[in-house]
Amino acid sequence: MVRTLAKISLVLLIIVALPISFYLVKEYSSMSQNEQMVERVFSTQLNSILFSVNQHSENVLGQWSQMLNQPIDPEGQLMLSLEENLLQNNPAIQSIRFLDLDEHAVIAQVERPGATATFNEWPGPDKIKTLREYLENNYQRLNAASAGTYTQICFLPSVNKGKLACQLIINPDTFIDQNLRAQIQQISQELFYIQIKQKESGRIVFYTGERAEPNDSLQSADMWYVPGYELGIRLKSKTLTDLASERTQRDNYLLLGIGILVILGFLFVIFNIRKEIKLAELKSEFVSNVSHEIRTPLALISMYAETLLLKRVKTEQKQEEYLKTIQQESVRLTGIVNRILNFSRLEKNKQTFRFSEVDLNKLIPEIVESVRAHLEKADVDYQFFPTPGPALVSADRDAVKDILVNLIDNAIKYGSEDHKKITIRTIARKASYLIEVEDNGIGISAKNQKYIFDQFYRVTEGDLAHKAKGSGLGLNLVKRMMNAHGGSVSVRSKLGDGSTFILKFPAKTQTHV
Ligand code: ADP
Repeated sequence: MVRTLAKISLVLLIIVALPISFYLVKEYSSMSQNEQMVERVFSTQLNSILFSVNQHSENVLGQWSQMLNQPIDPEGQLMLSLEENLLQNNPAIQSIRFLDLDEHAVIAQVERPGATATFNEWPGPDKIKTLREYLENNYQRLNAASAGTYTQICFLPSVNKGKLACQLIINPDTFIDQNLRAQIQQISQELFYIQIKQKESGRIVFYTGERAEPNDSLQSADMWYVPGYELGIRLKSKTLTDLASERTQRDNYLLLGIGILVILGFLFVIFNIRKEIKLAELKSEFVSNVSHEIRTPLALISMYAETLLLKRVKTEQKQEEYLKTIQQESVRLTGIVNRILNFSRLEKNKQTFRFSEVDLNKLIPEIVESVRAHLEKADVDYQFFPTPGPALVSADRDAVKDILVNLIDNAIKYGSEDHKKITIRTIARKASYLIEVEDNGIGISAKNQKYIFDQFYRVTEGDLAHKAKGSGLGLNLVKRMMNAHGGSVSVRSKLGDGSTFILKFPAKTQTHV
């Protein structure tokens, strides 16, 4: 059986469990890939938002630089109009100055009244070289650099052909608030939470909707034209990490559930196959047991009948003895056949019972009387202790007889070898009557007690149990018949110390009215 089971398990493992396990492992590993994909999509999103914000910053600054792309008026007219147009309309601009790069001199300068920001940097040669290269390609490139808490924008106005540089000092907070706010609000579209943070101080300069919690994780990237500031986004309702971990958790539970189901299914199939194999084994054992049981009486009958027919028996006493044996063995054969038929009827639920009111205290002595010869032959010390008064139950008299005969048979078969004792008791319980059949025989181990009521099950350990003939049907028949009565059968036993079988019948008034 172990080998067959191992083979079936292997086949099952190969055709069911392995593919599912592969699938589960694949799913599990692809989960992190999916997450990476979500992350990628998200960072693409961030980049496009960032690009759009930067583009917008460039447009604003570009407009300013176009306004400043004029020849410097020696009378200071340009500065005046700049003051009016730019400084007044754009609170972010703190000051503007023009530098003569060749002369290394400031040639014009205008400041917002009360502005504290000062120019602290002369554009270096590398920067000028790069800006000039752009200018040669007709592109008035803007260079942004951090100047303390301010931002310094530098470009070469094209009208001056790279001779002059223009520098603007911008208050980044005001720039973001005045010049970028509307655009960012539009981008966020109620879908994203967007914030701008001053990286060094961690100060949140701007945010859309409700302010994010400090431990909220956002996708962030540096801003081009406002150095030292970063732009962060996350989905409005949940952070990416929330979404990912929620999804991972859900997928994990799902995979775990499927895994457990597969294992349970696998165990269930193995368990059932094991049961079927065991049953098939028991059935084949049963066939050989029954054949064996039938062969002995048949041999005796045929031998004695033949001897009688050949008239070899001289004395009448011997003749009678032979005939008695023939009769006894036929009764035994009938018993075996009846038991098998009963079993097959019960198994197919075809057995019909005729219930009537039965007083167990009266029925038991009648049944014992019918097997008295058997008891005497086995030299059994028999006792009956009835409960006081009638023990009324609703039962099929023939079935109760079959049940008790089975138990008495077993008590004799598996009884003590030198002095067999059988004690039967009826006991009144609240809503039931018990019949106890006690013997002083070989007893049954706790392990075997679990199986003796199963069909075809026989205990094969121990000398007597091994030698005794049987089919393994008796106790299963008892169980089925007790169930049909709405009752039950149980055993109390200890190996080597006798057994007590307990039949429990519902009391007449309670169940069968
Ligand atoms: P069998 O035909 O083998 O007697 P049963 O179904 O009547 O089949 O009993 C199943 C097994 O239970 C027996 O093989 C025997 O080992 C054990 N058994 C039954 N009755 C007793 C008993 N009174 N004492 C000890 N063992 C018993």
